[in-house]
Amino acid sequence: MSDSMPAARRAAPTAPREESEQLDDWPAGDAPDETSGLVLAPTPLLRPVRHADAFEGTVEKLATAIRLGTFPRGSMLPPERELAMSLGVARMTLREAIAALRQAGMVQTRRGRGGGSLVVYDGHPRSITRADGDASIEPDLPTGPELVGLLDFRRVVEPGSAYLAARRALTGAQRAELVAALDTLTEAADRADDGAHRVADSRLHVTIARLSGSAPLAEGVSRCQGVLHRLLGAIPVLPPNIAHSRAEHIEIVDAVLGGDADGAREVAERHCDHTSALLRGLLG
Ligand SMILES: [Zn+2]
Repeated sequence: MSDSMPAARRAAPTAPREESEQLDDWPAGDAPDETSGLVLAPTPLLRPVRHADAFEGTVEKLATAIRLGTFPRGSMLPPERELAMSLGVARMTLREAIAALRQAGMVQTRRGRGGGSLVVYDGHPRSITRADGDASIEPDLPTGPELVGLLDFRRVVEPGSAYLAARRALTGAQRAELVAALDTLTEAADRADDGAHRVADSRLHVTIARLSGSAPLAEGVSRCQGVLHRLLGAIPVLPPNIAHSRAEHIEIVDAVLGGDADGAREVAERHCDHTSALLRGLLG
């Protein structure tokens, strides 16, 4: 049991990376005018998000509202104070979520008098501009019910694997393998190496699934992670989510190594929910 703690302590969360502000002028033809620049009233889509999922839940709700046309292209998002109140989140969380929408190419924000966030999402389901500036997105990624089905499947198999792994008497080698997978992930996060981070993230989840002792579960998780890897490549890397993931990975590994099966399952469920909220919101 004791060999779990040093890994977790080494992997303590750090501050998220700085994100450039990207507060551009309105693009030509997109300036809000009297007909298109309406500030729309909050809708039932914008019910409060759960506190534990504040950032991811806020991104999901706002991105979904934009994709579904509640906030159409050319309209302004409601003022920050109003949105924060509707969603029941802190202004800081709302700002982080709007920054995520900017990174995803859904809004442009201008500060000061006459400023605000202008919706520029053009309605194409794959119009996300990635962090590396490459706007070309794989054409055959799952969306709609297929995406939801995959995320639901993951929500069952990954927490289930973590639960079973925590109940098993793991060998020293297995415990060391799990700690090494977490360390590799933490190092990639420290280097802000997004590609390596995504690979190491998948590897950690597949390792946990293998440690469950169930080959079909390990196969299911591997399949999920294969698609997830491509889905995550189609959305920006969002620092608040990376910080949450980091803390969750440590908690899952600690729970597995400590034999806390319920705890491992619970954190893994939260972890899946966060990724799911971002993918459902940004990709639909
Ligand atoms: Zn993960």
